[in-house]
Amino acid sequence: MSDHENVGYLTWDEWRRFRTAVDKSLIVVPWFRVAGSIKGGAEEVRAPSSDHPLGLNPTWLAAEEISRLSHELRYWADLEDAANDTYGADIARLFTREVETALARWPIEDKPHKVRHVRCQVCAGETIRYRPPEFEGDRVHIACTECAHEYTEDEFKTLIELVTAEIQRTEKAIGGTRRMGAA
Ligand SMILES: [Zn+2]
Repeated sequence: MSDHENVGYLTWDEWRRFRTAVDKSLIVVPWFRVAGSIKGGAEEVRAPSSDHPLGLNPTWLAAEEISRLSHELRYWADLEDAANDTYGADIARLFTREVETALARWPIEDKPHKVRHVRCQVCAGETIRYRPPEFEGDRVHIACTECAHEYTEDEFKTLIELVTAEIQRTEKAIGGTRRMGAA
């Protein structure tokens, strides 16, 4: 048994993990969106499969699900308020599980990456470098190595969304035909 009281409908352990998941989600959501773009590589993105007809990466889908749950959690005034509600506590457990599972599958890599397939908006080079957070509370650093233009996470997210939309359009246009080359 734990020394701590339950928090609403959550056990102390569930509550602790939920708090951690909320903190981590701030880092992992943008990372998962980008990680899909980095790791997917040209081949994966250009080979439409029946499982992922839109070519969306699993990391992207995980980020979407975590975002969706965190939107739902905003219905309550704060985390404790959510824990005090049976439905809120369920959402909290789901949210915790999503974040923990996603992090177990795709640990945040500690090395900076050159971002492929995304061109710098300023100099049009594929020269954007992404550095994940290096410690708790750190932020993501995204900058072009060519023209030194820095991107905020929001700007970069928008850029990634544009690229993803473009990929989806391309795959629809191909209609299941595998397109090679043009790399
Ligand atoms: Zn640039």
